[in-house]
Amino acid sequence: FMKCEIISVGTELLLGQIANTNSKFISEMLTTLGIDVYFQTNVGDNKSRLLECLKIASERSDLIILTGGLGPTIDDLTKETVAEFFSLKLIEDIDTKLKIQSYFKRSKRNLTQNNYKQALFPEGAKILPNDNGTAPGFIIEKNNKVVVVLPGPPAELIPMFKNHVYSYLKPLSDEIIVSKVIKMFGISESQVDEMVNNLLVSQNPTVAPLVGNGFVTLRITAKSDDPLKAKNMIDEYEKNIRGLLSEYIFGVDDDTLESVVLNLLKTKNLTLSTAESCTGGLLSEKITSIPGASEVFKFGAITYSNESKQEILGVSKNIIEKYGAVSEETAREMAVNVKDIAKTDYGLSITGIAGPSGGTPTKPVGLVYIGLAYKDTVYIKKIISNGNRDKIRLNSAMNALDMLRR
Ligand code: ATP
Ligand code: MG
Repeated sequence: FMKCEIISVGTELLLGQIANTNSKFISEMLTTLGIDVYFQTNVGDNKSRLLECLKIASERSDLIILTGGLGPTIDDLTKETVAEFFSLKLIEDIDTKLKIQSYFKRSKRNLTQNNYKQALFPEGAKILPNDNGTAPGFIIEKNNKVVVVLPGPPAELIPMFKNHVYSYLKPLSDEIIVSKVIKMFGISESQVDEMVNNLLVSQNPTVAPLVGNGFVTLRITAKSDDPLKAKNMIDEYEKNIRGLLSEYIFGVDDDTLESVVLNLLKTKNLTLSTAESCTGGLLSEKITSIPGASEVFKFGAITYSNESKQEILGVSKNIIEKYGAVSEETAREMAVNVKDIAKTDYGLSITGIAGPSGGTPTKPVGLVYIGLAYKDTVYIKKIISNGNRDKIRLNSAMNALDMLRR
């Protein structure tokens, strides 16, 4: 069993100037490889403290992955420190030197002496080419430890890991981990938790609920030395989960509510237009974020004021005066009228109170009406969302999308 530790080098991480997305990415990749990450450390651009981290890491981990501090500047000291710690000399790599020269020639930048620092590597290192920058990474094997050193910029680190590190690490792991995410809408995390209660105690596969982006997910993760066995475990658990929660499940893995709905309408050859008030275009934004939305989505209106609801959408003055802009009746007219104006199969409308102010006892903050017009029928959904303005708006847009799924 291989124990891994990630050390991220960079004072900006400690100052809170950037988030450590590198260690998140590496951890995710290692998980899919079946390598257990036991520790993640952040340390500043400081030699003695980095030496301290290396000492601790080499005592407790088999695989140490370092990121950052590989550049040409004076504060970049990861390579020198790693070499010193493992008592390895730094040796110039001629291929890398030539590559650096041609890189600078192509980008018409001046090559300074400290750029050549990047052609130095600890003796015996396996060099990892950098296709998106000048600082190559490297791997050393010393005292039964594997040490992988990668550049800090994610645009350099991610391809380097995928193209060079992944294949190197794969044979080191005797297990693989497969996971699948089941996505649900219209049910709370605690409800899901209760429904699948007896599945949550399993050690392999593990089932973990999670909330975020307005929906609930269950991640099923299976570990095995046999990929087929892992897949079968996942399939079985997925079947059980679907048996309990099928009406809420809208997709898996990378699916989003908008991508699922859009593909559904596309397959059925149906078109859509929207009329939004309190969501201010969020619904249309979600829909149009999906490639190929133009086949389905034809027209979206943001009618924020009462006047625009009347003038642009032709909602009758009577309705607004009698029932108010936030009402079932207004939502109904918005949906029907936008469908007719845009000549689409569906017209979808949202009108509500996103807060934080503007609520009344009869119409509290979070009250939202959604209208869905299709042929001669209008479906109305009334929701009262909790949370702040962002949450209310997101939940409204998600509920509107969810109506198209039904
Ligand atoms: P460079 O050659 O650009 O100096 P480097 O390998 O020396 O690369 P750093 O100087 O440590 O890397 O970081 C360069 C930039 O990369 C940082 O300013 C930051 O934007 C990004 N970066 C570094 N470490 C991380 C990290 N752990 N997560 C996300 N981004 C990071
Ligand atoms: Mg740097």
